[in-house]
Amino acid sequence: MNDRNAKSSFRGLGYYIPAIVVAFAVLIAVLLADAQKRRLEEEYLRSSTTEQLGLLRSRLEGNILGNIKLVQGLVATFSTEPDMSPAHFDDLLSRIFREENQLRSLAIAPDFVVNRVFPLKGNERSLGLDYRKNERQRAAALQVMEQDRLIVTGPVDLVQGGRGVIARYPIHAGKDNAFFGIASAVINLDKLLASSGFNDDLKIAVTLSSKPHDSGEAQIFFATPDTVDANPVDMTIDIGHETWTMSASPLKGWQQPSADLGAFRAGLALLAMIIVAPMFWVGYLMKERHKHILTLQDREDRLETVSQRLQLALDASKAGVWEYDTESHALSWDARMRTLYNVPQERETCVYDDWRRAVHPDDVEGAERIFEATIETEKPYTTEFRVRTGDGGIRHILEHAMTYRTSSGAKRIVGANWDVTEDALLQAELLQAKLTAETQNRALEDARRVMEHNSLHDALTQLPNRRFLDQQLGLAGNGDGRPLTLLHIDLDRFKDINDTLGHAAGDEVLKHAAGVLRAHIPLEDFIARIGGDEFVLLSRRDPAQADFTALSARLIEAISEPILIEGHDCRIGASIGIATRNDADESPEQLLVNADIALYEAKRRGRNRVEAFNDELRLRTVEVKRLSDDILRGLERGEFRPFFQPQFDAETLEIVGVEALARWEHPTRGFIAPDVFLPVAESLNVVARIDETILDQALFQATRWEGQGLGIPRVSVNVSCQRLRDEGLIDKLKAMNIRRGALTFELLESISFDTADDGLRQVIEEIKALGIDIEIDDFGTGHASIVSLLELSPKRLKIDRRLVQPLLESTAQQSLVRSIIDIGKVRDIETVAEGVETLDHAALLRSLGCHTLQGYALARPMAADDFLAFAKGRSWMPDAGITPAKAS
Ligand code: C2E
Ligand code: CA
Ligand code: CA
Repeated sequence: MNDRNAKSSFRGLGYYIPAIVVAFAVLIAVLLADAQKRRLEEEYLRSSTTEQLGLLRSRLEGNILGNIKLVQGLVATFSTEPDMSPAHFDDLLSRIFREENQLRSLAIAPDFVVNRVFPLKGNERSLGLDYRKNERQRAAALQVMEQDRLIVTGPVDLVQGGRGVIARYPIHAGKDNAFFGIASAVINLDKLLASSGFNDDLKIAVTLSSKPHDSGEAQIFFATPDTVDANPVDMTIDIGHETWTMSASPLKGWQQPSADLGAFRAGLALLAMIIVAPMFWVGYLMKERHKHILTLQDREDRLETVSQRLQLALDASKAGVWEYDTESHALSWDARMRTLYNVPQERETCVYDDWRRAVHPDDVEGAERIFEATIETEKPYTTEFRVRTGDGGIRHILEHAMTYRTSSGAKRIVGANWDVTEDALLQAELLQAKLTAETQNRALEDARRVMEHNSLHDALTQLPNRRFLDQQLGLAGNGDGRPLTLLHIDLDRFKDINDTLGHAAGDEVLKHAAGVLRAHIPLEDFIARIGGDEFVLLSRRDPAQADFTALSARLIEAISEPILIEGHDCRIGASIGIATRNDADESPEQLLVNADIALYEAKRRGRNRVEAFNDELRLRTVEVKRLSDDILRGLERGEFRPFFQPQFDAETLEIVGVEALARWEHPTRGFIAPDVFLPVAESLNVVARIDETILDQALFQATRWEGQGLGIPRVSVNVSCQRLRDEGLIDKLKAMNIRRGALTFELLESISFDTADDGLRQVIEEIKALGIDIEIDDFGTGHASIVSLLELSPKRLKIDRRLVQPLLESTAQQSLVRSIIDIGKVRDIETVAEGVETLDHAALLRSLGCHTLQGYALARPMAADDFLAFAKGRSWMPDAGITPAKAS
């Protein structure tokens, strides 16, 4: 920018160059004219000075000559009359001196000695002066005599003071006209000069310039107060013996301005102005013109830039631009418009019809309406319409247009068109996608509903499931004052059918039961299957009118109807527990627990029964609660301890093992049996802790027996499922360093080994690896499949006492027990019979091949010390007479 400015200012100066050149030329001409004028003036001055000086010289010469002539006359007179009397001399001279002259004195020196002088006054000293003896005047005096002519010399400083010119004349006298002496006249130089006109009209200097006998330099003896300028006008006067040079210059010097110089110069300046000013004006005009051209160029550049940008914008937006004059109806289309509307580019003009013809017939009317409305309202608009392409396709056009008025007031519409076919297609696609998405959403919604239904319903029976029930219970929880009754329904013998006829049959039974339930309950009641063979009915009906006990009885009756499944006539039953909310504070969850307790009670009292939760059950619940607290406290205080029941070899009756059985030594209630505390302990999840303490104490006692040399080979403990799942179990057992075979774990057959996970099997393997024997307790109660039990390869099977007890009466039982014993033998698994209550049982079992016997007939469970005494006493041996041991 700066560079540009500098350039333009330089260029600006450029316009003045011709003017400047002319100005220079004029200046030079003016200076020359001025110099010329001055030179002429100086010449004029010089000539006038020369003239003046010439005049002065001739006056001076005239005066000198006049004085000389005067004296010459006197000298001539004196020559004739050398003996003139002094009075006559004085008289003569005073007459001469009276005349106009510059004579100052006259001395007559006959034979070089002054004897007369005029005027005497002031010149007395000259009398008697002998020129021959006077140093200063001798040469001159002798020269006058020798040359015998007048010799003028001067100026000289006079003895009397002042300066003078001395004219010395030879005087001849006598008949022979012989040399007589010298007359010496002194002319007053200053007077001479003054009377010659040497005043202040000029600057003058008079120099004594040559003196043949004197080589001294020129000496000025007269000068005007103003010093003569250089280059003066010179003139010489030969006064006889010397030459005087007069130098003069005008009083105001050579450089004095003439009177008309000012006017001359003003004239010149004016002339110069007249010549130069127009030149500058032209330069200025040129510059202005150039500036305007630059401005115009700049504007043009900007316009170019703007139109380039516009073009770029149009190119980038791919907009076609059109313009329509509403008066002349002239339509102008740019190249892209022509492309959009399939109009050849070479066509010179486009008309409204070009547009109309291209637009899709269905869209023409709408587009025209908008167009006309805009002409009227002058408001901009945006619209879309379709255009038919040459190849029969469709092009979507987006049009934006607005009106404007030209400077002349004509109304015009300018518009831009874009090809938005892709957008339109995309839009259509999006719409399609949206529709699809909506359909999918509906499908999803349906699926969700199905899933929700599924999540709330049991797939098998299509009854609501536990989750649904929980929701309903939640709703009922907000105490709305309405009654709430729950029936907990549990099918009896369902497991048997499942086990004997298979799961498909089981499923059939469940479906049947669900159908029966659904058919027998009113619509307003809610029934759900909450697991296995359990159902819950939820009713908000008034229990006083509904009579749920009667309903339950009807349900049980209906369910108990025999059903035909896979050709089998099946009979199932049901037990029902009822709980009704009496207290608004009672939560639905508590109510469900109550119904469960009632159900449990119904089952306890024999199946196919209805029990309603009542105060007695509530009391029992409280009891259980108290028992729970007691158990926990008892565990803390170590109130659980083992009793020991020995096991005997069936042949030798030697003690081969001891089973440790848990007893709770309650501080107030005394010893409590496992069947009282175990179910509660189980619900408290503390059975594993009981097992652990019993094992610890049993092992402690075993060490004690060993110490006493009793030779008890092994001790058995009961191990619960909880205990088996105790994570630290194996590590704890390892730490105990148990001798191989000295410890047996009795696992209940009911621990369902068929469904046991790998973790449980793994634990059992690890236990075996530690040398601890595995014994299946309560074997033969039919809970587990024999195959899966044998897969565990236990050390022993312990035949349940419910199989043992009826042995004597039933041969079927005998063969069952025998086959168990035989299977064991094949598999190298020993058998233990428990619940051996009589010696007949013992004998029979021995004959069946059972290895070990345990039961009241031989010994009851005993406290540790009692067992020690018992074992030492050996009172059970035949030789000691077998008597039952003390009861626990
Ligand atoms: P179980 O393992 O079957 O124990 C044998 C039960 O039968 C013992 O009852 C025992 O006193 C009893 N009994 C022994 N001989 C006879 C007899 O000739 N006739 C009759 N009718 N019964 C006899 P107990 O001690 O009341 O134990 C009941 C159950 O409690 C045990 O059955 C066992 O399953 C469980 N139990 C006992 N102690 C523990 C323990 O420490 N941990 C675990 N988890 N369960 C234990
Ligand atoms: Ca046992
Ligand atoms: Ca048992």
